[in-house]
Amino acid sequence: MKFALVNGQRQEAESQLRGICIGCGNPVLAKCGERRINHWAHKAQIQCDQWWETETEWHRSWKNQFPTDWQEVVHLASDGQKHVADIKTPDDWVIEFQHSYINPEERRSREDFYKRLIWVVDGNRRSRDKTRFIKVLSSTGPNNLWPELQVTFAEGAIFNDWITSNAYVIYDFGDEDLWCLFPQSNELWTYLLPIRRLDFIQSLSGSSLKSFDHLASKFKVFLAQYKSPRHLVQGL
Ligand SMILES: [Zn+2]
Repeated sequence: MKFALVNGQRQEAESQLRGICIGCGNPVLAKCGERRINHWAHKAQIQCDQWWETETEWHRSWKNQFPTDWQEVVHLASDGQKHVADIKTPDDWVIEFQHSYINPEERRSREDFYKRLIWVVDGNRRSRDKTRFIKVLSSTGPNNLWPELQVTFAEGAIFNDWITSNAYVIYDFGDEDLWCLFPQSNELWTYLLPIRRLDFIQSLSGSSLKSFDHLASKFKVFLAQYKSPRHLVQGL
């Protein structure tokens, strides 16, 4: 974790500091070395948030794009478990940064729990994913309703992992443009929209016109038109 409680205050790890885990309330020690980013680690092996993933530089630099009080927000589940969301915005969007593989069952339970969830996925974990992604994009057909939105078919591991997700999925290949995979996608109808990194971050910061909610409703309108029988007959 990036934060722990030190004398009741959220604080980042600093050499020699001791704190209390924001998730489980157990003692944590500051780990500040050269091998990994500064973080808090439990003093003893204990079951904390079972969804927690070891943080990488990639996680940390993403988190740092958002205000600190949006970072690592604790949620209490009905079974008494606590989960720590990477980011929770004032509009109740939860953003989870996912570097490693997540099995479908765990993915679904997080989607059910958080409801308004956006996954940001590290597209550079596997070397072939980006090439495959670009290849899939190159076979996109024209679409006059929303020219930037790519309607294509999913192929390859990077899609297999996320295509059945009912949350928004943002692929991050380390470029200026991120790619949003919309939740109503399936293998034959895969909806992908390029979104500039800064625009994505700002869309979650509460400016109404370009908000993420605005993007989500724009997509719903698009989908209703795109899938309408009249439109399909015209083949637009
Ligand atoms: Zn803990």
